[in-house]
Amino acid sequence: MIRIGVLALQGAVREHIRSVEACGVEAVAIKRKEELKEVDGLILPGGESTAMRRLIDKYDFMNALKEFAHEGKPMFGTCAGLILLAKDLVGYNESHIGVMDIKVERNSFGRQVDSFEADLAIKDVAESFPAVFIRAPHIVEAGENVEILSKHNDRIVAAREGQFLGCSFHPELTDNHGLTAYFVEMVKEAKAKHLV
Ligand code: GLN
Repeated sequence: MIRIGVLALQGAVREHIRSVEACGVEAVAIKRKEELKEVDGLILPGGESTAMRRLIDKYDFMNALKEFAHEGKPMFGTCAGLILLAKDLVGYNESHIGVMDIKVERNSFGRQVDSFEADLAIKDVAESFPAVFIRAPHIVEAGENVEILSKHNDRIVAAREGQFLGCSFHPELTDNHGLTAYFVEMVKEAKAKHLV
């Protein structure tokens, strides 16, 4: 059995836990860095990346998060979580966790449309996925090993690079748990590989 953690410093934690549980897998809210040792994969939720970064530093999480990535364990960043995963951020000199080979721009869908919903085709997940965007970022550039899973108006909004999965929107806010299920499979595969 696998267990999936949801970083619980700030943001949409409860909804992710519900979504993971809907996929038949145990979910744990991660409030202390030591708890990372107890999970096989980690979801970085949406919220506000600057606030989340402040809390990551306050609770001394950064090295533990980088180590988690270094161990090859899957991580799924949604919205603010995508910003935390990116190696490069438009307009900033430094990244946060900085492990996924993508360049991300924050709040990139304009002020008038702070929030909107769109039906997206997501490769290997759904032909029509109800995606909720809330002051969402998007992926401006993706490295050669990054697989683009979805675009909205020509902008990359979901991608995978090996153990890392990221999306611009909030997949936990509707009853479609398809993208969470995709991540659950990634975690199962990574764990199986590790055990061999
Ligand atoms: N705009 C937020 C940020 O820059 C992300 C929004 C979200 O996670 N819904 O961190």
